[in-house]
This record gives sequence, structure tokens and C-alpha cells, in this order.
Amino acid sequence: MDEFEFIDHIKQRTYKQNSVVKGIGDDAAIFRPTTNDVVTAVDTFVENIHFTSKTTTPFHVGYRALAANISDIAAMGAVPTFYLVSIVVPSEIGEETLLQMYAGMNDIAKNYQMDLIGGDTVSGEQLVISITVIGYLSTQIARYRSNAKENDVVFVTGVLGDSAAGLHILLNELSVKDGSYFINRHQMPEPRVRFVKKLQYVKRIALNDISDGIANELRELAVASDKDIIVHDEKIPIHPSLKQFNTELQYRWKYFGGEDFELVGTVGNRDWLDLEKVAQEIGLKITKIGNVTLKQAKHPQVLLWKDNSLSLLKNEGYIHLK
Ligand code: ADP
Ligand code: MG
Repeated sequence: MDEFEFIDHIKQRTYKQNSVVKGIGDDAAIFRPTTNDVVTAVDTFVENIHFTSKTTTPFHVGYRALAANISDIAAMGAVPTFYLVSIVVPSEIGEETLLQMYAGMNDIAKNYQMDLIGGDTVSGEQLVISITVIGYLSTQIARYRSNAKENDVVFVTGVLGDSAAGLHILLNELSVKDGSYFINRHQMPEPRVRFVKKLQYVKRIALNDISDGIANELRELAVASDKDIIVHDEKIPIHPSLKQFNTELQYRWKYFGGEDFELVGTVGNRDWLDLEKVAQEIGLKITKIGNVTLKQAKHPQVLLWKDNSLSLLKNEGYIHLK
């Protein structure tokens, strides 16, 4: 199968979004936005850095890569609509592997009526997938990280550390309680698009998605908003079966594990009740984990209450180009 046959294979026959004017098949795609604000993000995944074939099937590589992108769009308060995929393909990668990757992307895309409207295919030394995602922001009120205000409630959706636990289970071929639950959370994370969509009437929310670990995402919120954030260790939500791992692993995974693609954010006290209500309506767990306060030092900080003392929550997540 050559490049052209491949493109023909992955090309959608029909598009779900009415705003597609030209999809795959010309020099570029065209869409006519249905909202004033169009949100876009790109993420790149490199084999042996972001994934390995040891723990991830091609299907799940595609699924997770697009999930990560969708999560970024959700964290802006927008609804994902389109994606474009650029791939660098080494000669040893067969067509079945590529098609499986696209099947994984298509599997999650269909949950959100997203359309694949373009991409690029080139040969190279290492498998690289770069996905550009486009979404519509209808609220006119983006969920900036800089939106946090003093006295806001700090919240997080779902539970944390599952994805890192799932990866650990896969890497060490462990058989543990709820192993398939953790593995599934690692391979097929669910971006919180529905939750964000239902919150469109709430005026101000600061949001960040948990890709690197909540310690890092909290710091990003604090810095962008120029505030301190205080969180309580015992309030950080984890799955009950995470407790079967030692406390050091639990601590590392819940703060620095990342890739859970849950949302962490802040909202005014009065709107917090609405968030709880919406979360309950869609069966999503949401937990108040702390508060936003005026900064105490020159630079914004994230502080952690743990064992009756307050300390700095350091960022030990994965940082590229370190
Ligand atoms: P050009 O040479 O003009 O860049 P291409 O042959 O690269 O055109 O692409 C032809 C069409 O197929 C375009 O619509 C492009 O967006 C799409 N396309 C190419 N590669 C991919 C890919 N890996 N995934 C999705 N669409 C692709
Ligand atoms: Mg091209």
C-alpha cells in the first residue's frame, strides 16, 4: 500500500460536522466555523519517549494520542470538532499498524462527532504522530489558567494516579486487584468534554487538564493567576484499589503520574454547588481539594497540607529539554 492508497483508506466517506467545506483530498482542508472563537492545539508523540510498543498496541497509541489532544480542548472550555494527523513512518512499520492507529483515533473521535480533515505522511527513522485538534468555543468565555481568584474552590474531576498505576502494571506484568481497570484507564482515558460542555453557563472557571501530574498543573494555575493554591493531601481522590500499592508509589502517582486527563480547576464558592450538580448529573466524581489564596511570597506557590503540616508541593513531573 503506497501513501495514496493509505490516505484513501483512512479518508472518511462522510463528515459528521456540517461545517466541513472540504475535508481530505485537496491541498488543504476548509471549514466554516459555527462559533466566533476557534480553539486549536497540537501534540506530538514519539515512539520510545511517549509510548512503547511493549505496553501499548497501535490502536491504543492512536486512541491515547487523540485523547490527550481532546483533553486540551476541553480544558479551554471548548468542544472538539476536527483533527489532522501528521505521521513519520519508519520502514519497519507495516500498514496494519498504521491502520490500527487510525482505528484507535477514530474510536475516540466518534464519541465526540469529530472529523479527520487532513494530515501528512512522510518516511523517517522513528515513529512520530503529531495531532492537531480544532474545537469550537461557544461560551465566549475561555477557561484560562489565569482565571483563578482569591477564595476560589480548587477541584479535580475523577480520581488520580490510575494511568500511572496502569502503566506500572503493564511494565511489570503484575497481577493485582482491579488490574484491568487501571490498564484501561491508562490505555483509553476519557477526556472530560461532557462536563465542560454542561458548564457553559458558569461565568468564570479556571481549568487545566492533568497530562503531566496535578502538582505541575496546579503550579501552572497558580503562576498564571498569580495566586497561591493550598491543597489537602487527604482530599486528593484516588481509586480504593490504588491503596494496594505502597504509599511512596501512591504519592508519586497521584501528584506526578499524569496522563489521567482529568480536569483540575478553580471556581467561585457560589458556582461550586453548580459544578457538583452537573457532575452528579453525568455520573462524574468531582472533589474539592483546596482553596486559592493571596500569594504569601514573591512568587506564586502550591502548598500541601499533609500530616498536620504545610509544605511546598514541588513539581516532579516529567519535563522535556531539562
Ligand atoms: P500535499 O502533497 O498537497 O501536501 P498530500 O498528498 O500530503 O498532499 O495529502 C493529500 C490529502 O491527504 C490532504 O488532504 C491531506 O491533508 C491528507 N493526508 C495526507 N496524509 C494524511 C494522514 N497521515 N492522515 C490524514 N490525512 C492525510
Ligand atoms: Mg502533504
